[in-house]
Parts: sequence; structure tokens; C-alpha cells
Amino acid sequence: MAAFESTAQAAEYAMLAFKKMHELKIPATPENYTIWYKWAAKSDVELVHFIDHLLETGEEFDENCCETIYHNYIEHDEQIIQANHKLETTLQLIVQSLDGADAKTEDYADALVDFNRTLSTLDEDHIELSKMVSSLTQKTVEFAKQNKELQETVQQSHKEMKELRENLEAARESALTDALTGIANRKSFEQILNNAQHECEEKQQPLCLMMLDIDHFKKFNDTHGHRFGDKVLQLVAKTIQSCLEEGETVARYGGEEFSVIAPNLDLKRAKKLADRICRTIAAQEIVKKSTSERIGSVTISIGVGQYRPNEALGDLVQRADMALYSAKDQGRNRAVTEEEMAKAA
Ligand code: GH3
Ligand code: MG
Ligand code: MG
Repeated sequence: MAAFESTAQAAEYAMLAFKKMHELKIPATPENYTIWYKWAAKSDVELVHFIDHLLETGEEFDENCCETIYHNYIEHDEQIIQANHKLETTLQLIVQSLDGADAKTEDYADALVDFNRTLSTLDEDHIELSKMVSSLTQKTVEFAKQNKELQETVQQSHKEMKELRENLEAARESALTDALTGIANRKSFEQILNNAQHECEEKQQPLCLMMLDIDHFKKFNDTHGHRFGDKVLQLVAKTIQSCLEEGETVARYGGEEFSVIAPNLDLKRAKKLADRICRTIAAQEIVKKSTSERIGSVTISIGVGQYRPNEALGDLVQRADMALYSAKDQGRNRAVTEEEMAKAA
């Protein structure tokens, strides 16, 4: 019973969301639907407050405005999937209840037919009654037919919803992955670092961040070609990954720069890990598959910073970046911590 109540409620929110979107001429994209479903369900007080204020001031909900709301109030794609999932479940429950209603209607129609048959065997006084039952039977059959059609429509919507969720899951996966190297991309890096910050504050554990940059990569590209450079980027990503333990993440920060998030490591241990990454990359011999030409190796420079409680993550990134510049200054192919950088200055 409770499930049906929540089904009705979810359907009500969905109706309200679509009605409002239609009224405001907002395209029914999954992102917009998520915003307006949350608004209808009043599940996020701040979002409701913000939208209601815009509605009061007569603000236009154009593409920019919707994007801003999505960015500010819907944290990440996970929530679209949840909303989609909710709608999918709702549709499934509607299908089930229509199915039940369908069976009952058919029973009822059969009972009417039987009753009418019995009436026809009685005397003439029952003719009027028999006519009424006939008409009732016809209406019931029509109703059963409509019910069946509705059931098929909802079933189709349910199937489409399921496909949409699967597509969304795949899109979310690829939105967080760097297409060239297959590791976490910049967006994913930001999310993971954010989570690591919360966890380290909560558990009072250390957290270190490395910024890594391939040395003289421009020259490498100029000598061996950009496409081969791409292959080396893939190899470097794989090599860094191979040095990491569970819970540590490598992300492509941009271009030939990577970053490593190392929760639960203090500066000293993170420096050891960074040294190991430097050594492993420098020891990796690069061979051109097409010609079997051995072309030596690339090296990488690393800056290591440790998170300071309550600081902004941008400050941590900046310190690790400065330590990276210091590693470049000191001759490349090395790791420098923020502490060592301060001493060298
Ligand atoms: P440094 O040691 O000072 O870092 O020198 P660098 O040459 O690595 O640095 P610079 O910033 O001058 O050049 C970075 C190069 O990285 C230039 C660019 O062509 C290359 N690069 C960036 N992204 C990609 C990519 O996706 N594929 C390839 N093949 N090269 C890239
Ligand atoms: Mg660079
Ligand atoms: Mg470089």
C-alpha cells in the first residue's frame, strides 16, 4: 500500500514538473527534468527558494539560467540517474497496477456476459434489464480495451526510461574519463579531491597531492610526431597508475600534466611514492612499434604538497604546482616537496 502511495506522489511530482516546464517553455532534457522534479518534490529547500524567487521576479528560464541552476544545485550526474530511476520505478508500478486492473475488468465483463445469458432465459419482464446489462457489458469491454492500450503505452515508456538510464550511466562514465588515456579527467579529479578533503577532515588523516609534468615533451613531439606523443601519454598514465595503491588516484590534469591524489599519506611517504614514480617512468624504455626503433625514455618532474586543515583546495594545488616548478628548476626528472621547495628558496 505504501508503495502505491509513493507511486501516486512521484507521479504527482512528475506531472507538476512537466506542467511547469511546459508553461515556462523549458526543454524537457533530463537535466531540466531533474531540476523541476526536485522543485516539485520540494526536496531541496535552497533550490526551491532560488527558483521561486526567479518565478516571482519573472526571470526567463533560458538555457544559461537552467545551466546555472543545474551546476549550483544538482551536484553531479548521479542525481539525474536517481531521478530517472525513480520515474522508472513509478512507471513499473503503474504497469503492475494496470495489469491488476485489467484482469479484474475482464473478470467483471465475463460476469456480466454470464448474467445477461441467465436473464435471456427468463420471461419478457426482464428484457429492459437485459438491454441495460448488454450496454454495461459493451462499456466494460471498451474500458478493458482502453486499459490495455494505456498499459502498452506505459510499458513502452518504462522501456524507454530504462534505456535512458543506461545511456546516462554510460555518459556519466565517459564524462569522468579522459578519452586518450582512460584515466580520470580533470572534472573527475576535482570531485575525487573534494571527497578526499572531506574524508581527511573527518578522519583526521593526512592527504597529499602531486602535480606531475612530462619533461621537454614539446621537443619529444617535435622529434617523434604528435601521434606518437599521444602513445607516450598513454604509457605514462599507465605507468603512474601501476605505482599506486588502492585508494590513490591518478588523473590527467591537462595536456602533458597529471596529478595524483594520495589520501592517508603524509609528505614524507608521498615523496617516496613520487620518487618511485619518477624512477619507474625514467626506466621505461620506449620502442616505436612500427620500426622497432628504441628511443630511450621520457622523464617526469613532480611537485608534492600536503593538505593543511581548513585550507581551500586551490591553495594546495598551487603549492604542489610551485613545488613542480622548483623540480623543473632543479634539473627535472625529480620530485620536490613543498617543504624542500621552501628550504631551497
Ligand atoms: P617542460 O619540461 O618545461 O615541461 O617542457 P615541455 O616541453 O614539456 O613543456 P611545454 O609546456 O613547453 O610543452 C608542453 C607540450 O605538451 C606541448 C604540447 O604539444 C604537448 N602536449 C600537450 N597535450 C598533448 C597531447 O594531448 N598530445 C601530445 N602528443 N602532446 C601534447
Ligand atoms: Mg606542462
Ligand atoms: Mg612538460
